[in-house]
Amino acid sequence: MYTKTKDIMMSYKFRLYPTKTQELRLTDAIDSCRILYNDFIFESHLAYKEGYKINFDELQRMIPYMIPKDKVYSKAAQMVLWQFYNNLKILSSLSKKGKRIGKLRFKPKSRYNSINYNQSGFKLLQDNTIKFSKIGKIKCVFHRKIEGKIKEIHVKKEIAGAWHAIVVCENEYKKSCSLLRKKIIGLDVGISNYCYDSDGHVIAHPQILRNSEEKLKRSQRKMSKKVKGSSNIWKEKLRLSKIHQKIKFQRNDFLHKVSRYYVDNYDTIFVEELKIQNMMKNHHLSKSISDSSWNSFFQKLEYKAVKAGILFAKVKPHGTSQSCSNCGIMVKKTLAIRTHHCQYCGLLLDRDYNASLNIKQRGIDSLPMGYREVTPLESSPLTVGMYANSHVNSLNKESYD
Ligand SMILES: [Zn+2]
Repeated sequence: MYTKTKDIMMSYKFRLYPTKTQELRLTDAIDSCRILYNDFIFESHLAYKEGYKINFDELQRMIPYMIPKDKVYSKAAQMVLWQFYNNLKILSSLSKKGKRIGKLRFKPKSRYNSINYNQSGFKLLQDNTIKFSKIGKIKCVFHRKIEGKIKEIHVKKEIAGAWHAIVVCENEYKKSCSLLRKKIIGLDVGISNYCYDSDGHVIAHPQILRNSEEKLKRSQRKMSKKVKGSSNIWKEKLRLSKIHQKIKFQRNDFLHKVSRYYVDNYDTIFVEELKIQNMMKNHHLSKSISDSSWNSFFQKLEYKAVKAGILFAKVKPHGTSQSCSNCGIMVKKTLAIRTHHCQYCGLLLDRDYNASLNIKQRGIDSLPMGYREVTPLESSPLTVGMYANSHVNSLNKESYD
């Protein structure tokens, strides 16, 4: 047996019920943060025009002069600077990759709706309230138990007017994990089926977006006919955001169920690395792909696997759909050809089934000998963690909403 630890970030979303006064304070604090964010943009643009690059420390020193201290908790103001810097970093990394980028844009009220209490400035109290510095004790419905150490809380106002606390926690999981791998599965995610596994199970696409598409289109059409700034357009906006919310809930529910199934029934799960960005360029595929949210599926699989102490890893995708899972020969086929028929060994299978078998085999080949089936336990105690973590970020943000 081998024990591994891993930190996972998880977030919980709880409904907040601020009083009228608290709501005003929150709105005021968020707006002050927004203005601060825009000030950072303004200062950096100004400096840039003068041929000079403003740095983090300089901006940090300006904060006390830029923000009303009685309204905004000082650490929350600091977080605005981090947010600004992160956005700058993202821009510069995109530009390094050769993408065409613009400048950071000023945020209007409609696009800035939260405040971040990082490490301090908040306290969870016994009477179902959270005390926020500069705001007060706000009633909160904790509908589930919080596990782990709370790192930060985002207070967010939804478009429909409800307030939420997004509580981000860090968890350290220690699980014993047997070296012996008995139940190994390979998963091939795809366009025609959501998932085909190497045991021959097929999971069909939930078609969630497709089903709501008509409703979405109707709502968008109505929006375009309404007068800008009118109360009617506001109502329609609300309706639209509710449709989106529902899609998100349904999709998350589906992904939680499928990932739970695999984690409960297997001790080793292999998938292939996806090149989703490239696939999104293909217009025909892009709708199904964004609907499937495979990345989110893999994240859920991964953190559930870590929690349960089982192995989850990604294998190289090259040729998994082309090569024959029985004899290894390449059988060229376009996306339109849905079966794998090997002229050499005669194997006839669904193409996705063939791919899932290849993924499983590739995964097994990547394991050290000690992990493979029927190997005695005393063989080399290599780190399971290394394999489980090698292709993924150590921090997985997972939203439980
Ligand atoms: Zn063959």
